[in-house]
Amino acid sequence: MTDFTYSVDADGVATIAWDVPGKSMNVMSREGFALVSDMVDGALADPAVKGIVVTSGKKDFAGGMDLNVLASIRAEAGENPAQALFDFTMSGHRILRKLERAGMDPKTLKGAKPVVCAIPGTCAGIGTEIALACHRRIMADNPRAKIGLPEILVGLFPGGGGTTRYSRMVGAMAAAPVLLEGKMLEPKAAKAAGLVDEVVAPDQLLARAKEWVLAATDADTVKPWDQKGWKMPGGAPYHPAGFMTFVGANAMVLGKTQGVYPAAKALLAAVYEGALVPFDTALTIEARWFTSVLMNPSSSAMIRSLFLNKEALEKGANRPQVADQTVRKLGVLGAGMMGAGIAYVAANAGIEVVLIDATQEAADRGKSHSEGLLDKGMKRGKVTAAKKAEVLGRITATTDYAALAGCDLVVEAVFEDMKVKAEVTAKAEAVLPEGAIFATNTSTLPISDLAKASRRPAQFIGIHFFSPVDKMMLVEIIRGRGTRDVAVAKALDFVRQIRKTPIVVNDARFFYANRCIIPYINEGIRMVAEGVEPALVENAARLLGFPVGPLQLVDETSIDLGVKIAKATRAAMGAAYPDEAVDAVLFAMADKGRLGRKANAGFYAYDEKGGRTGLWEGLAGLWPVAAAQPDLAEVQHRLMLVQVLEAVRALEEGVLTDIREGDVGAILGWGFAPWSGGPFSWLDMIGAGKAVEVCEGLAGKGARFAAPELLRDMATKGQSFYGRFGTDARAA
Ligand code: NAD
Repeated sequence: MTDFTYSVDADGVATIAWDVPGKSMNVMSREGFALVSDMVDGALADPAVKGIVVTSGKKDFAGGMDLNVLASIRAEAGENPAQALFDFTMSGHRILRKLERAGMDPKTLKGAKPVVCAIPGTCAGIGTEIALACHRRIMADNPRAKIGLPEILVGLFPGGGGTTRYSRMVGAMAAAPVLLEGKMLEPKAAKAAGLVDEVVAPDQLLARAKEWVLAATDADTVKPWDQKGWKMPGGAPYHPAGFMTFVGANAMVLGKTQGVYPAAKALLAAVYEGALVPFDTALTIEARWFTSVLMNPSSSAMIRSLFLNKEALEKGANRPQVADQTVRKLGVLGAGMMGAGIAYVAANAGIEVVLIDATQEAADRGKSHSEGLLDKGMKRGKVTAAKKAEVLGRITATTDYAALAGCDLVVEAVFEDMKVKAEVTAKAEAVLPEGAIFATNTSTLPISDLAKASRRPAQFIGIHFFSPVDKMMLVEIIRGRGTRDVAVAKALDFVRQIRKTPIVVNDARFFYANRCIIPYINEGIRMVAEGVEPALVENAARLLGFPVGPLQLVDETSIDLGVKIAKATRAAMGAAYPDEAVDAVLFAMADKGRLGRKANAGFYAYDEKGGRTGLWEGLAGLWPVAAAQPDLAEVQHRLMLVQVLEAVRALEEGVLTDIREGDVGAILGWGFAPWSGGPFSWLDMIGAGKAVEVCEGLAGKGARFAAPELLRDMATKGQSFYGRFGTDARAA
């Protein structure tokens, strides 16, 4: 069994079919590369072979490179990992270049064997780069298929020749959405974007590919950049039009990334520098930049968190050893914003749903949320009428708790009120089967307290979604004191069914995500109260790579919600409550009716259409801007440290039990600077010693900046989080 199969038909058309055994999606391994190389050699040397079809034995073409390969090359390389990564990248270039030249006489540009890529389904990363090296790309008109180069989304850029080839095919400007934003395109859009040449009916794919091979002429097998007098579409950098493109692209990238993503800069540099030299030199330049990105701690942290660890968590890294708990019938209590969203994602994943609210009208309104989302999907051509009917058919909207009979999981999302939640728990449990698991979507109430209302606290758990449910990929699962493994397994299996990413944490105030995000918002507000220029606060956050500043974030989540949480926290903590200064600002904003985006007025001003027009000018009247402003680094340290120290405390206290969950949860849950790989990865990047030093520098700002004991201990011992708590450390 090998990753590729090779055959030659009676007409002399060789087929190299990618079909990694035991996997639903092809991914490229080191052995796979070597095999393709041998097969290409064989086909080119065999006089009976007229041309080559590269395709897949699966419904999709490829998911990309197995990123574990890159990690293992680095790990095995010893003294000089950069050299090993560069050599590996260059060997990939040589193989694809061999495929692209296909035996062509370099002088006459004649005699190449035509090579076509027949793409049956989704094609990403190195899969697309192989396709780009072929002479022609034919894609099946498969509505579920997409093609693209999404490397940038995990902190890399296409380093298998994709950057150089695609930018030369369509020009730097046109290539930007695919290369710089990692956009994956449907077949027809891919044709318009020049990624593929033809889109054909799925059952015609191989026949058409073969037909093309047999009819291809010498001219069809010479890439434009191998022809004399080739010019870069849109203009090379020294051409006036090209110059404009590159200046604009630089500004755009910097504006979007704030310069914190090394891969985006390296990609631009590879395109720019590559455009100044012949093709093969451009590939070497691409390989050098790719190596530089692979060696950058940000890229390895992003790959670790956004690819390796995210996938490990989705595959059940922390799932207790309990029999399969796949959910068949789900009850959702409360058809408001969250309940309606939960019902939708579950029904969409094929689960039967009973959606309950206090009135039929409210229950129906909850169901219509699904209808709205499905209609949107239909408008974008993603959902068929049949699919819409099927998904809606799975949701029963009712007020009748008896309909919960037979549900194996219930998630309640009623008002955030202990009494209301206790009532619905009892009502549901009265009709649920003995083995059913009851989950709460509370954001702030302790799971162990809510479990007191349950007859079966061992089967009671927190399943905390983020808003909007259909978009946010993280689900935080919270074990109460009495929660047993079967409930955790149920929650994890449910999250797997709805294709989201789970983290499992222990019960404590605000669990994990909100525990870290609230201090971020509060620190921003606290600085406004201190007289720090609000624009400095917001820009400091953006420059750290946070998608939104703390003041914008509180506007989005609403200031009255902030007030509610502050009041409840104050009541629970009594004299120990540390956030009076924050509340003074929050409460004043609420009194003025500046409740955030929903009121079209908050820390920001908005136009009638709800667009932000800038920070609200009235802020300075209420909290005068001080004459002396802190420097940018201090503001950034405050915004960063309040979050990461909370994450460390969560680990120290056993709320978090796995730093991978801390990192993945932070990026997916609240957009924690993705370039950093998450709070623990960020701390590892700067080092525990430096982090303690920064804490000491901020000591005067309050106890929240006191370095946790764990961090001090690690600083003394010179340890990193992944060194001390990573999976390798655990296994040792
Ligand atoms: P919401 O007010 O939009 O919806 C609550 C729904 O519960 C309403 O439709 C209400 O009619 C219904 N309800 C109230 N009492 C009921 C009863 N006895 N029986 C049946 N239905 C009843 O609130 P929401 O924003 O959807 O929040 C729901 C829960 O989710 C809360 O616990 C909240 O803390 C939590 N949560 C909210 C968010 C968020 O961003 N809004 C995020 C995560 C978790």
